[in-house]
Amino acid sequence: MQDCVFCKILRGELASEVIAETDDIIVIKDINPKAPIHFLIIPRKHMNDIQSMAHVDFFYGSKIFAMAYHLSKTIPNAQDFNLHVNSGKTAGQIVMHLHVHFIAGKLEGAL
Ligand code: AMP
Repeated sequence: MQDCVFCKILRGELASEVIAETDDIIVIKDINPKAPIHFLIIPRKHMNDIQSMAHVDFFYGSKIFAMAYHLSKTIPNAQDFNLHVNSGKTAGQIVMHLHVHFIAGKLEGAL
């Protein structure tokens, strides 16, 4: 997707702070963190949201869980965390490239 912010980051056209990456996904720091640790787990493939996924893309779900496990084991103070997805504009999604928020160190804990 030409104008997608996360596709631009994935193509190296826009700077970002990369935390981890695999063949399938990349993890970057959120530019406007809502918690002491706020990362975005982003599939390399452009998919607008969960509704837009094809069945063959559901493997990204386990890749994302595996990455969350890895982050929680390797990032200090991230052993307890929240995963959050806004899927669709009326659910609050702003960047229309599917991504999962990895949030840790939030005082309130839950959503
Ligand atoms: P959402 O509402 O789930 O679409 O959230 C999009 C998130 O992307 C927000 O938390 C933004 O702060 C974050 N964001 C937008 N642009 C960038 C960027 N260039 N680099 C890192 N994070 C970004």
